[in-house]
Amino acid sequence: MGAKIISGKELSASLRAQIAEETAKLPVRPGLGVVLVGDNPASVSYVTAKEKACRETGMYSREIRLPAETTKEALLGTIRELNSDEAIHGILVQLPLPKHIPEKEVIEAISPDKDVDGFTAINVGRMLIGEKCFLPCTPHGILKLIEFAGMDLSGKHAVVIGRSNIVGKPVAVLLARKETNATVTLCHTGTNDLKSYTRQADVVVVAAGRPDTLTGDMIKEGAVVIDVGVNRIPDETRPSGFRLVGDADFESCAQKASAITPVPGGVGPMTITMLLWNTLESAKRHAAR
Ligand code: NAP
Repeated sequence: MGAKIISGKELSASLRAQIAEETAKLPVRPGLGVVLVGDNPASVSYVTAKEKACRETGMYSREIRLPAETTKEALLGTIRELNSDEAIHGILVQLPLPKHIPEKEVIEAISPDKDVDGFTAINVGRMLIGEKCFLPCTPHGILKLIEFAGMDLSGKHAVVIGRSNIVGKPVAVLLARKETNATVTLCHTGTNDLKSYTRQADVVVVAAGRPDTLTGDMIKEGAVVIDVGVNRIPDETRPSGFRLVGDADFESCAQKASAITPVPGGVGPMTITMLLWNTLESAKRHAAR
């Protein structure tokens, strides 16, 4: 294996230490409201990790766990309360929501000033036109990881696999911004001959939600691979009965890449770290008002 491992754990630890230091100095304690509806096991574990990270950096975290049968009206009421609560600077509604609740309506109910996930149409629009906003956490974390790997993307070719609203599309936008200056190709299931694009890439960001979407034969020598995927695959040797793998085949990609993010321990911890970053940023803005 020739590739350097880009550790999201290591970068997260140093950023979280910095966030804790700034949190301690602020006149207001940054507060995050975390709303979970139902008991989807993956969502419960994400929410628990976010709350823990909040407390570890000295932030206030309010956990609101609602039953799966909660009505849309009740959930919107909870969001309205958090919107007007002075102790809360960021609101996170864990997705997916139960099927009877329209996610879009719930997300849009979050005040853009507290939208630390960066999911509201206002924040997405601000990001697109380069205005001050909360950057979406996973894409922001990906940019930080590339920077941490020492890669200057100016003039480089970045290929993004996946066009979701929470990862693929915003990553492509951020990579193409003037300050990052990459040339971006956005691939998806309608792309003919994916390999012909990924083989030209200096950096490949893979966010497809499928193991082995990217394999070593699909990248050029020395490319940087950012693996966003989190897939549970059965593994009887583990007490949980499963293990986590990314969207890239780590072994074959690591043979050719110059640097690669692991799964777990790559993009995942950065997503939570950038959530804390946005909550701190929101509290700073609140303190300045
Ligand atoms: P998503 O909404 O399912 O989107 C997947 C995208 O990948 C779609 O645009 C799809 O294309 C494309 N795609 C799927 N298979 C492909 C293939 N074989 N070739 C080319 N394109 C393909 O997923 P997501 O929400 O973006 O998440 C992607 C992965 O990242 C998931 O594993 C998720 O768990 C993980 N994730 C991790 C974090 C983290 O913090 N680490 C955060 C968010 C997501 P079409 O549009 O044509 O269907």
